[in-house]
Amino acid sequence: MAKDSWISNLPSTVEMVEVGPRDGLQIIQEFVPTEKKVELIDALIAAGIRRMEVTSFVHPRFVPQLRDAAEVLAGINRNVCVCMAMVPNMKGAERAVDAQVDMLDVIVSASESHNRSNVRRSIDESLEGFVRIFDLAREAGVSVRASLATSFGCPFEGDVPVSQVLRVCHRLQELGVMEIALCDTTGMANPVQVSKVVGACLDEMPGLQWVAHFHNTRGAGSANLVVALAEGITIFDASIAGLGGCPFAPGATGNVPTEDMVHMLHEMGIETGIDLPALITTARVWEEAIGEVLPGQVMKAGRTCDLHPLPPLDD
Ligand code: ZN
Repeated sequence: MAKDSWISNLPSTVEMVEVGPRDGLQIIQEFVPTEKKVELIDALIAAGIRRMEVTSFVHPRFVPQLRDAAEVLAGINRNVCVCMAMVPNMKGAERAVDAQVDMLDVIVSASESHNRSNVRRSIDESLEGFVRIFDLAREAGVSVRASLATSFGCPFEGDVPVSQVLRVCHRLQELGVMEIALCDTTGMANPVQVSKVVGACLDEMPGLQWVAHFHNTRGAGSANLVVALAEGITIFDASIAGLGGCPFAPGATGNVPTEDMVHMLHEMGIETGIDLPALITTARVWEEAIGEVLPGQVMKAGRTCDLHPLPPLDD
């Protein structure tokens, strides 16, 4: 990249997709009551979030924290927000469509062993299973996105070759997916690798809508996001207050915190349509509701533009 070409290539607006209610709440031990979830989600919408992964239609036995998926969808203020839900299989897709979700999110891993450990199937079996789900979505007029887990590394296999990421993405495109989220599921990505993977995907499949989903597990989330932005991605998943984590890495932080990314983007002159002060307040409300210190930084440090009075000089 030439000295400042990357700056002139930055977009003027970015879409933030809030995934905290799904990616975050699923790992909280205690069940958050439905009314509380509705209140927390509505606060995000009031702060300007316009797309959100609200829940997941997984079997209640596996993720009891989200067993109230349909009730949550029915309870929240959906007028202005596109509500997305993760669906692991056909049964989940049927429940999600019945609950009148706007968008289904199916998940498959770029690495074979992660896919097997996640859904007990090979990648090709997962892709095969999507055919019926996509047919159902088309009939119901519901859009679909695919989340490609371990796009930047696998906790079991290590490096995931770019060719493997491309293979799965091409197959997803053939099956009719319009949008793919490249997910750094366990926070293994680095900026150089992000540039290579994202660059290759956008070059080969420019007709698709691309999303990046970074975890801050090892502190590289915002660096990776900026590189993905410079490579041309304009839609990013993030989680309020950095809620979330990973079952394989105890104590690991979750997705990049939404309010930290919005703060950084606004400081860079990039619009998100989000009311940042309201979002920071919402992050604190979530933290209080969860009852644990959450990783978000701006909710602790304040905004860059919140200046402090100069302390008196005692000479
Ligand atoms: Zn995630």
